[in-house]
Amino acid sequence: MPRRETKRGTDRTPLSGDYDVLICGASFAGLAVARELAGSGARTLILDRYEVGERQTSACGIPTTWLRAMGLEESLQQTFGDLVLHTPHGSVRWKLPWTFSTFDYRTLCALLRAQSAGHAEFETAKVEGRIPGGVRTDRGDLRAPLIVDALGWRRILGLGDNVQPPEAFLSRGLEVHPHGRGEDMELWIDRRYVRAGYAWSFPADGELRVGVGSFDPRPPVKAETVQLAQDLGVPPVRYQGNWIPHRIRPATEGGVFFAGDSAGHCIPVTAEGIRTALYFGIACGRELRAVVEGRRTREEALRRYHAFSAEHRWKFEAMKRVQDLVPRIPPRALVRVLQGFGRQGVTDWFFGHYLRIAPPEFAGPAPAADRRVAVAA
Ligand SMILES: Cc1cc2nc3c(=O)[nH]c(=O)nc-3n(C[C@H](O)[C@H](O)[C@H](O)COP(=O)(O)OP(=O)(O)OC[C@H]3O[C@@H](n4cnc5c(N)ncnc54)[C@H](O)[C@@H]3O)c2cc1C
Repeated sequence: MPRRETKRGTDRTPLSGDYDVLICGASFAGLAVARELAGSGARTLILDRYEVGERQTSACGIPTTWLRAMGLEESLQQTFGDLVLHTPHGSVRWKLPWTFSTFDYRTLCALLRAQSAGHAEFETAKVEGRIPGGVRTDRGDLRAPLIVDALGWRRILGLGDNVQPPEAFLSRGLEVHPHGRGEDMELWIDRRYVRAGYAWSFPADGELRVGVGSFDPRPPVKAETVQLAQDLGVPPVRYQGNWIPHRIRPATEGGVFFAGDSAGHCIPVTAEGIRTALYFGIACGRELRAVVEGRRTREEALRRYHAFSAEHRWKFEAMKRVQDLVPRIPPRALVRVLQGFGRQGVTDWFFGHYLRIAPPEFAGPAPAADRRVAVAA
């Protein structure tokens, strides 16, 4: 059972005050922003509905190099050099030019939080919306000149009415987390489970993350997730699901910075949104740090971060075209397409470019760690 640590009852005291930076959302994007501000001297407050790491938001698969680049290896659970794809007409094994790993969400969040813990406060509060110069929460109003929405697909701090599913550009995903073991990271492109989308099984050191993702937000995926779990001989227990954005959105709006799912920073087709949330969170944090340190104005930082995110748009749109194409390939032809794609030169080329969408070397060492090294030297 997940531990519930969120403040309740009398511990939920009123919140108010002025900060330099308000980071709304304490998952991948929000914690990455905070990491980049560590040691800047900024008065930073991170807000989330839940305690850090309390509610897992994904299957937690990521290129291993990203865990290393950010000093988060301790959270690693299992590593995969291959990707196994199943279709109704045969299976294909792709040898990847780099490895994927699964990680433990709670541990990763704790490690990431530690990179800013002495430098940023944290409070549990539900962010309800914007007020002039700040945000309204269920515990009170908070103000800051620099505000980040890292709250996920709802884009709560966006201007105007948010677009809700199924009209929004969202996929849907649901998974179960039974105990179990596996050697391979496996995907199913099989209309028995989902017409447009894919199903997966990610082993994570004694746990299997088994789920179904639909590129079309309308059809429910619960019965299909249960079916896949049964086909794999594991019980459909410990559900976790959410909407997944598949269109990039403006990374700034009305003076607020958006990072991760709130800006649609999730790669279409694969629905990989963790490393991109880290990547854009880091980019956002660096801009905020430049403002706090007096190297840029807030307006310059908004412009630069907006432009940085927009430079990536074509890559996300190219992946969206692939997302639209895959369900149109007749199932009999699909296995041949996947075999062709599995030729080593092709796989290396594709996955090389795919990693470059958000390359790990962008991360660099945590600034607070840098500082300690500088002091020691
Ligand atoms: C079933 C499923 C499996 C997935 N598997 C993978 C995977 O293996 N690999 C991968 O790369 N991507 C995966 N994804 C996508 C990935 O989960 C997201 O892209 C990623 O979590 C985005 O990170 P984020 O920090 O932007 O948002 P989130 O991780 O969604 O975090 C948002 C944070 O904001 C908080 N919050 C939300 N609303 C409020 C509010 N009103 N007030 C206060 N706090 C609030 C939440 O509690 C949460 O902590 C998966 C998605 C799903 C649905």
